[in-house]
Amino acid sequence: MKSTFTLALLVLFTFSGCSNTEPEEPLNDDTTRISVNTSDIKTPEKLPLVKDRKIKNLIFMIGDGTGIAQLYSGQLNLAGAAGRLNVQTMPVTGLVKTYSADNLITDSAAGATAYSCGQKTDNGMIAYLPDGTHCKTILEILKEKGLATGLVSTSGITHATPASFATHVESRNNYSEIAEQLLVTNADVYLGGGFEYFIPMEEEGSARKDDKNLIPKFEAAGYEYLSSTEELINATGDKLLGLFAPGGLPSENRTPTLAEMTEVAVNTLSSGDNGFYLMVEGSQIDWGGHANDAQYVLREVRDFDDAIKVVLDFAKEDGETLVVITADHETGGMTIQEANEDNSEMSIYWTTDHHTGVPVPLMAYGPHAIEFTGWFENTEVGIKMARLMGIEEFPAINE
Ligand SMILES: [Zn+2]
Repeated sequence: MKSTFTLALLVLFTFSGCSNTEPEEPLNDDTTRISVNTSDIKTPEKLPLVKDRKIKNLIFMIGDGTGIAQLYSGQLNLAGAAGRLNVQTMPVTGLVKTYSADNLITDSAAGATAYSCGQKTDNGMIAYLPDGTHCKTILEILKEKGLATGLVSTSGITHATPASFATHVESRNNYSEIAEQLLVTNADVYLGGGFEYFIPMEEEGSARKDDKNLIPKFEAAGYEYLSSTEELINATGDKLLGLFAPGGLPSENRTPTLAEMTEVAVNTLSSGDNGFYLMVEGSQIDWGGHANDAQYVLREVRDFDDAIKVVLDFAKEDGETLVVITADHETGGMTIQEANEDNSEMSIYWTTDHHTGVPVPLMAYGPHAIEFTGWFENTEVGIKMARLMGIEEFPAINE
């Protein structure tokens, strides 16, 4: 079983190139072969349960569109059947039901709002409830309590998931408004894409419909503005606005990587004494699912898992950091079938190019991680995180 692919320490991709999503195609006719790593590779050690103590820092990570098949195909591809990803070293697992207030199939806005506010809302709404009120987010409350706060994503930082932690809009498509609200919320770190909503319409590449230039406004509010990996790595500010691409960061040859952004965010936020709250999103696992493109999913799972390693290394060393990793929903109805003769290849099948309603996995590490064992509503996960961070009144409404 290990013979044919011994040269494949570098993982060999067999790419069938069929991202065919025309509606007339029958379901399951759109497969992609993935290679399974059959070489002996070093897998990361499992982490132990840690003693419960006061939690100082909370790092919450969302793999957008990440179900069990996305993680497990990533494991097969990178680490083989007997190996494990960094995310699989975490000692506690749970399962999360993802439906929204108005739909059994959630979108990312309602999915993230369940975690940020502890409340179910309608698809498309960003920390905004069906009755028109704004729910207070865990990031906003912890900021009021004096913690450092930050958001990191590989999508635009104005995209539904990060936006749901720091802004309030009725429609996730109000990207220009979201960019302005990020300035008002004044979190310490924003790193991701979405450059086009921060520059005035007369500038090339702008997607705004007004002449507002937000970047000087962020700088006036004390942010160091970063637009390249080099600037990111050399950043010294205690408040950072990093916009590294219009839209999402490129999936192939990504720079900066999610791990690089996460490392800078963790270093920046942990420099104070009051603790911090950081949300990190691997945004494009979802986009690979929408494209029914297994290679895209694998690249994104790898990028996400590299960032998870950065976070777990920090949490191990720190001892007072709770890490919770989950998804907002699954995308694609991805599954794994049909190994070839020497088990070096698998077929990926999809049931849809949209989101599905299947529950998603949750992993936790750090003080009180054990409380995340079991089946949960997505809102329960949000409420539990808030309670563990000492927030008494949650869910809460603004004003
Ligand atoms: Zn999606």
